Amino acid sequence: PSGANVPALVIGTGYGGCVAALRLAQAGVDVHMIEMGMSWDTPGPDGKIFANTTSPDARSFWLRTKTKQPLSNFLGFPIDRDIPKYTGILDAEEFAGITVYQGRGVGGGSLVNGGMAVTPKRENFGAILPSVNVDEMYDTYYPRANAGLGVATIDPAWFDTTDCYQYARVGRKHAQRSGFPFVFVPTVYDWDYMKQEAAGAVPKSALAGEILYGNNYGKKSLQKTYLARIKDTGRVTISSLHKVTSVTPAAGGGYTVVIDQTDTSGATTLTKTVTAAKVFFAAGSVGTSKLLVRLKATGALPALNGEIGQGWGDNGNVMCGGANHLWDPTGSLQASIPTGGIDNWNAGGAFAEVAPLPTGIETYASFYLSITKNPNRARFSWNAATGKVELNWQTSWKQPSIDMAKTIFDKINAKEGTIYRTDLFGTYKIWGDHLTYHPLGGAVLTKATDNYGRLHGYSGLYVIDGALIPGNTSVNPFVTITALAERNIEKIIATDL
Ligand code: FAD
Repeated sequence: PSGANVPALVIGTGYGGCVAALRLAQAGVDVHMIEMGMSWDTPGPDGKIFANTTSPDARSFWLRTKTKQPLSNFLGFPIDRDIPKYTGILDAEEFAGITVYQGRGVGGGSLVNGGMAVTPKRENFGAILPSVNVDEMYDTYYPRANAGLGVATIDPAWFDTTDCYQYARVGRKHAQRSGFPFVFVPTVYDWDYMKQEAAGAVPKSALAGEILYGNNYGKKSLQKTYLARIKDTGRVTISSLHKVTSVTPAAGGGYTVVIDQTDTSGATTLTKTVTAAKVFFAAGSVGTSKLLVRLKATGALPALNGEIGQGWGDNGNVMCGGANHLWDPTGSLQASIPTGGIDNWNAGGAFAEVAPLPTGIETYASFYLSITKNPNRARFSWNAATGKVELNWQTSWKQPSIDMAKTIFDKINAKEGTIYRTDLFGTYKIWGDHLTYHPLGGAVLTKATDNYGRLHGYSGLYVIDGALIPGNTSVNPFVTITALAERNIEKIIATDL
């Protein structure tokens, strides 16, 4: 309620926010979590909570009147369609040079993501977070994160035989014939549930193509893991459809937090003010960066340092498709959870996940999301004239990612006698270089904050999400975001409470 005084307020309910709330509550602290998206616990008219990828509706997008699907075209035809404007689950947030996809709702990105739960190779960790003790991460915090998230790897014998991973076996064959290592990618999908889906024994989700707009059954999103444990503590309240708009020092100590309550059209219905002794920014790389940049520039938090908004990267995301021969089908049934990747990180700077194209028909296409060692970093800044935070990323900054991905796919194409698909991202466009799913940075560890996420300039303000990571994790990021949050909150609880 407005006027309340809370010991700890957490902005956002994604990975960083959930780790902070769970560990604080377990330490005996009452926590209030604020989430701008919906709670995603009530079925729609079709009896399901989440919409299917093949038939997007109002639930699918955050305040848009037309879908903006990552694959804009198929067989040359545009596939985006009109939808009612609604506080839906996937935000395609557009900056001048890049569209940044993010989850909106209680559970953050865990609601919409592919569930790939990858721990970076230990030898690559130094380049990801150079100030963090590697032994502590690999002995304690990565195992804690993997256990908390319910990470597991596919049964290799089932992988070898099931129809729904034929597309990934084609990817493995092409990788190995060109001399690249193929690795299994662990996930947070319930593999026993997927086996039962394949056997026709339970309602389908991965095998019904559910992914981008939520997963109704088998994926262990944060709703099924950290948020369930948070609920069990009895110490955490969560306000959905509430958006934090300001944080500023309060006269009597602590921070005054201004929060807009909205309806499902996005309109503000009520503005509330609470006082919090400690505030955790966990609004995601983009959400946290936008808030901090604006609060610094407009005088609400003027003592934040000049590193705020800096060091942002796209985790080198770039997508492409391969056009296979007619004797090399990828299957009409494709599990929506990717489970394998082609590793050319050390030699070529690219790790390519074999992604599904769950269209329900045979496409003779292989589809890949590559994570690359793109060195470009962008910065968020406040535009006083428009009243908006801008990001200076340029589309051409993806060229190093394309070059790195080509170290894999040019070789595969040459070996197999195949070509790139040109019908997935617009007419004759090979590379999906207009987006990222993996925004990272903007309030980087040891730059905008100390080595545990305490913001420089203010005691009692913390960053605990993807904004801490300087632009790249060499693999999909959520396990690293979770593990770093586990490390930081342990220190904060031990020393700051
Ligand atoms: P988030 O999970 O983004 O959570 C931030 C939350 O804060 C959101 O719920 C947001 O609505 C809320 N918020 C923002 N601003 C405010 C505000 N002002 N007030 C209140 N609330 C606010 N990663 C992987 O590791 N593996 C994958 O397979 C994978 N696939 C992906 C697929 C898609 C389509 C997308 C979009 C992402 C994917 N990711 C994947 C990325 C992963 O989901 C993110 O890296 C992760 O969710 C980031 O965690 P976070 O805690 O930093 O923030």
